[in-house]
Amino acid sequence: MSQPPSDSAPTPMMAQYHALKAEAPDCLLFYRMGDFFELFFDDAKAAAATLDIALTSRGAHGGDPVPMCGVPVHSAEGYLARLIKAGHRVAIAEQTETPAEAKARAGSKALVARAIVRFVTAGTLTEESLLDSRSENRLVALASAEGGYGLAMCDISTGRFELMQASADDLSAEIARLSASELIQSDRTDPFTDDAILRPSGAFSSIEGERRLKAHFGVATLDGFGSFSRAELAAAGGLMAYLEHVSRGNMPFLAPPRRHEVAQHMAVDAATRESLEILTSQQGGRAGSLVHAIDRTVTGAGARLLASDLGAPLTDIAAIRDRLALVQWFHEDSLRRDGVRDALKAIPDLARALGRVVAGRGSPRDLGQLRDGLSAARTLRERLARGDDLPPLLKALLPDMQGHGALVEHLQRALVESPPTERGQGGYVARGYDAALDALRDTSGNARRAIAALEADYKAATGVQALKIRHNAVLGYFIEVPAARADALMKPDSGFAHRQTMAGAVRFNSPALHDEAMRIAQAGGHALAAEEAHFEALCEEVVTSRDAIARTAAALARIDVAAGHAAMAAEGDYACPELTQEPCIAIQAGRHPVVEAALRKQGQAFVANDCALSERDRLWLVSGPNMGGKSTFLRQTALIVLLAQAGAFVPARSARVGIVDRLFSRVGASDNLARGRSTFMVEMVETAAILSQATERSFVILDEVGRGTSTYDGLALAWAIAEAVHDTNRCRCLFATHYHELTRLTDRLDALSLHHVRAREWKGDLVLLHELADGPADRSYGLAVAKLAGVPPVVVARAKSVLAKLEAGRQATGGLAAGLDDLPLFAAALAKEPEPVDALREALAGIDVDNLSPRDALEALYRLKGLLGS
Ligand code: ATP
Repeated sequence: MSQPPSDSAPTPMMAQYHALKAEAPDCLLFYRMGDFFELFFDDAKAAAATLDIALTSRGAHGGDPVPMCGVPVHSAEGYLARLIKAGHRVAIAEQTETPAEAKARAGSKALVARAIVRFVTAGTLTEESLLDSRSENRLVALASAEGGYGLAMCDISTGRFELMQASADDLSAEIARLSASELIQSDRTDPFTDDAILRPSGAFSSIEGERRLKAHFGVATLDGFGSFSRAELAAAGGLMAYLEHVSRGNMPFLAPPRRHEVAQHMAVDAATRESLEILTSQQGGRAGSLVHAIDRTVTGAGARLLASDLGAPLTDIAAIRDRLALVQWFHEDSLRRDGVRDALKAIPDLARALGRVVAGRGSPRDLGQLRDGLSAARTLRERLARGDDLPPLLKALLPDMQGHGALVEHLQRALVESPPTERGQGGYVARGYDAALDALRDTSGNARRAIAALEADYKAATGVQALKIRHNAVLGYFIEVPAARADALMKPDSGFAHRQTMAGAVRFNSPALHDEAMRIAQAGGHALAAEEAHFEALCEEVVTSRDAIARTAAALARIDVAAGHAAMAAEGDYACPELTQEPCIAIQAGRHPVVEAALRKQGQAFVANDCALSERDRLWLVSGPNMGGKSTFLRQTALIVLLAQAGAFVPARSARVGIVDRLFSRVGASDNLARGRSTFMVEMVETAAILSQATERSFVILDEVGRGTSTYDGLALAWAIAEAVHDTNRCRCLFATHYHELTRLTDRLDALSLHHVRAREWKGDLVLLHELADGPADRSYGLAVAKLAGVPPVVVARAKSVLAKLEAGRQATGGLAAGLDDLPLFAAALAKEPEPVDALREALAGIDVDNLSPRDALEALYRLKGLLGS
């Protein structure tokens, strides 16, 4: 704010600021002033609080000082990262002319023109430092049309672009799978979540979507990409309009859209993802999650693909087998595996470098990474192609890893070995690439040598040994001598012109020095411009082959994932699962990958368990003491199914998995209450979703469902839910419960069987064996677990005596279990809806006409007539 503060009219600068701010009302405005981005007013307060930097004030607006804070341009990325992480969006207003240009345009008091050049939002980042190299960064647009929903997803840091259609039932599972950094919707629809960003509805139409797709990809028809529904096109329209808005027309990289077929993937809703801790643990971090335990990929792209695979397991057996065959190929030959993984480790992140170049935010270093990555891909391809018995998936990937010969050769000739991230200083174009550029460099090099020679000459001529030719940003080149020796140079005929007198030194110029300095500046400027032109041309060449480069990056990522699975399998003794259409889950010696890893760290062994669900034995009721391992067994079974369908080996001796269309995992409210996450209501809402959505091909784990309420209510609900799962959904299900009473369900439900985790009491102490056995648990061990947990002995003793009293009372009255046959819920389930009672019919049916005396007949007639009237 160089203008003097004024309380009446806003300064021109404030007016400019407010105009820019009006274009970005929901963003923090980074206002470029020289070497700083400044923030004002509420933006300054918010940024200062988030970044923990000083809040100052400057000038005045409406009588009050204007709050202000700023960050240096050269370190802005780090601050941006923190603001975005804290949920802010940032608009960057750059100076679009130099002060000199402003002066030439509008006189000495002219204000430098500024414009918003970019919006930085969580879903549209490309900067290496703002992104996690091992996870995708997704922007998702949601649209509705013709009763269905369309979703468009892109990760502009790699160009991945997908469209999909979802029914109302599938929508939340799909959105959970996509796990967007930013979700946008039309402002005419109800926001899906609190932080959904509402955008003008005009773009969310199929016509607009089709128009934008055709224009962006320069095609006359979209047929080559696939056939898209109206809802999908509408979502694509909203997404592309938003990208254009945030990038201010500098459209980022989008590969041609692919259709994600919801039906070809296992549906896993948000609650199940959370409960199974697939990509993040319930504490929120990666540690403790499935992906953390099994990720052995060696590249960022591999890690991103693995997360995407685990988020969307397949249902197509052939596709899963293709993935497994590649894992197997790496598994059976450790030399082959290690060699490929070592090669992959050295390959830079091609997809992200490409994303930056296409978005116009690339650097010489990105070009260097593309050069090295593409050339390494070619070497790796040659090595892989030499192998025999190549698995089909690999055969399909190999052609994608070549074809960049000309580009690589060009980049190799054009660039120095390790090009810098900044291009302002130049120096990244290799010598020998451009003779004119080399000549310019020689000129400035020669001029530098000429300056050194000049310095020697002047020393000799003046006899001042301390004379030096120096350079600074303000004066450029100058001659400096100590103040005491300046006289000789001050003489009018000395040939030196005085420039500046300092405390201890005096500075001069000379015509010869001036000439050499000009030569350096000119040659340097021309050299920089030449390098810049080469840079642009190289970027252009990369942009032209972006789709092929993206395919190479994708092929490398797929190979990394498969080799990573093989490495995990070798390290953890995992087995190749067998997939089938039969509705079974037959696991021998299954383990929980995360619990096993945690136990191993403590030097403890995990107890493996079998699971054998089949059509005839599809509902397992698992009981046993707290801490006995019920939840672990349920989850490990779900995780093994998930891993198998994602195309990974599984932690088991063997596993035969019948394809699962939907996977559900629910944990009883009581288990989660401590974390303050779930309430009984949520649990019931989620259970309702399972009962309405699970099919005969689904797999459900229910962990102590019904525990969040009173004993009777909970038992009754658990009972009815188990019956419904068995009779109506007919899905495969593991049901862990503490209600011993439920064991009576075996009498009626023929595809239900009882199992328990074993425990023993030894010398008054409980020993948990974590071993699954057939049949119901003999008793509950709640008090023993309490003792184990350190509940004071006197409390445990008191609980024992209360329990004895309760049990005596239960036996006297017949207890909870005895009453079950009378529970209305149970009765209702046994007999279908009873017909409404018709007394007349009943009475009529009860008359034995053949054995009726005339008098009885007359009385019966009167009685029937009476019933008619009642
Ligand atoms: P609760 O009824 O209290 O929820 P639970 O029966 O579901 O208990 P889990 O939570 O599955 O018990 O297991 C408790 C702990 O026991 C685990 O954290 C793990 O340390 C250990 N454990 C579980 N299963 C095994 C196993 N198969 N082998 C070794 N340790 C196990």
